[in-house]
Amino acid sequence: MNELNICPICGGTFEEKSIQLDFRYKGRLIVIEGVPAQVCKDCGEQLISARTSKDIEALLDSDIKPIKQINVPVLPFRHIAQA
Ligand SMILES: [Zn+2]
Repeated sequence: MNELNICPICGGTFEEKSIQLDFRYKGRLIVIEGVPAQVCKDCGEQLISARTSKDIEALLDSDIKPIKQINVPVLPFRHIAQA
């Protein structure tokens, strides 16, 4: 088996999935949907190929119009007593 298919964190198996990623880019929060990635079945670790990373950079640099806008909740930090 190709060692790229073994999770470096837990030793689990990766499977090909389409995921959602968020980035800070030029001061804005940007979400990219449908990114192909290897996702560990056991711990959820996500690996993105160098090729896909390049595509993401190119996408962030392009002026492609967003398909939708989402509202993101913003919380003020507070210390919360842990039970
Ligand atoms: Zn894992």
